[in-house]
Amino acid sequence: MTDTAAPLVLFNSLTRALEPFAPVHPGEARVYSCGPTVYNYPHIGNMRAYVFADVLGRTLTWKGLKLTHVINITDVGHLTDDADAGEDKLEKAARANAQSIWDIARHYTQAYWADIAALNIRQPAHWSIATDYVPAMIEFAQSIADKHCYELPGGLYFDVSTVADYGRLARAATDEGEGRIEQVEGKRHQADFAIWRKTPAGETRQMEWDSPWGKGAPGWHLECSVMSGKLLGFPFDIHTGGIDHREIHHPNEIAQNQAFCCAGSLSDAANSGANVWMHNNFLVERSGKMSKSSGEFLRLQLLIDKGYHPLAYRLLCLQAHYRSELEFSWEGLGAALTRLKRMVMAVSQLRERAGEGVAAADWAQHPKVAPLLARFDAAISEDLNTAVALTVLDEVIALKKIDAGVKLAAITALDDVLGLGLAHLTRTDLRLRPVAATIDEAEIAAIVDQRAAARADKDFSLSDALRDRLAEQGVEAMDGDPLGWDWRLG
Ligand code: AMP
Ligand code: ZN
Repeated sequence: MTDTAAPLVLFNSLTRALEPFAPVHPGEARVYSCGPTVYNYPHIGNMRAYVFADVLGRTLTWKGLKLTHVINITDVGHLTDDADAGEDKLEKAARANAQSIWDIARHYTQAYWADIAALNIRQPAHWSIATDYVPAMIEFAQSIADKHCYELPGGLYFDVSTVADYGRLARAATDEGEGRIEQVEGKRHQADFAIWRKTPAGETRQMEWDSPWGKGAPGWHLECSVMSGKLLGFPFDIHTGGIDHREIHHPNEIAQNQAFCCAGSLSDAANSGANVWMHNNFLVERSGKMSKSSGEFLRLQLLIDKGYHPLAYRLLCLQAHYRSELEFSWEGLGAALTRLKRMVMAVSQLRERAGEGVAAADWAQHPKVAPLLARFDAAISEDLNTAVALTVLDEVIALKKIDAGVKLAAITALDDVLGLGLAHLTRTDLRLRPVAATIDEAEIAAIVDQRAAARADKDFSLSDALRDRLAEQGVEAMDGDPLGWDWRLG
């Protein structure tokens, strides 16, 4: 048996405290993660949110729990302002690109899924698509309308004073100071929000549905309440999202869940719909390239095009705690790539040496492995301390005088939690090779070989000439590189 005995402790944003994790359904963990709004490509900051949710899911699996993870795809309802103002992001993108909303949503959903795969993020049990749940959203809204909502010309509004402790997650007061929540005439409280947005008279939207409150579209917050409740049942275990969602989106989801479940105060977290609310902090970039509105922004594909393997970005995320802000830099990404290379090279050598797989009982109890395994378990169980878990993995990789099969089995088990896929990566996968480079790798390999032969013959003038030929193609020969790379693109 693998030692996974440390109690799992998670930081609950609702209580702002570390709490031991106690599943609602023994032996299970049910997790909902707010998914992307598919009006544009995700930036790498968005993907940090899913790397975090993935590590959480993998940790719950490591703890022996049966995981049910849901991520939604928001293809309707998310306005250009998180609160209650602006227009639907997808309607706007469709107009700007003269395309149908459905085409826009399909294209960017596919792009998001490609990033999910490239980052080794495991598939959730369900990808719930918001537009598939509109009838369920109308039903949900009907069930709370009488007690908790009122109608205005713009649609059906949720009255936040009808539930206990509104805004506790954000630690925000109900009725004051929130200047960025746009005033809508007739709203009873500034924080009240639309759960159904009527199509204004004389307009048609590409996406609209009939409802008891007129033709229109659901509010963004309603979607997540409905999909999480339907697929996981209230209360479920953990709700995740980026830290921005702690301010408006999640407090509004919580208010709806309370109304729907006829529940009381948030002093009992279960009344919020989920026992634990977890938020990853932001990835930041000083020059503003994270903003999707600024021309070339930081997409995963940009990193790949510049020659960085996407899993170097995953490693960069894991090196920081998910609750800390993480500053992106190309130097930092380069350092993560080098660290990943070292790991991959060590694992490749082990793979060559190791024979048949070693049974779990053998490797986990090995006297050199067992204490490291316990330390890894303690780190990951302490609110997902991936930075420390990674250093323990490094220590396992560095173990000396130990059977290669045992070591490989241990590394693979720890990597199942971190998700770097070390067992499948090769040195050449990681080579820095910008997509724009027009080089012939076979030709370069041939010159590198000729040059090695020249150096062995002490024919330094030939060796230098060959080095210059490489340099003409933008290729730098890397003599004596500790990682064993023969060359890289300059
Ligand atoms: P969106 O597509 O805008 O709904 O965002 C998808 C996810 O990314 C949400 O969980 C956001 O909270 C999260 N997010 C947005 N920006 C960042 C960022 N810079 N760093 C980390 N997470 C982010
Ligand atoms: Zn959501």
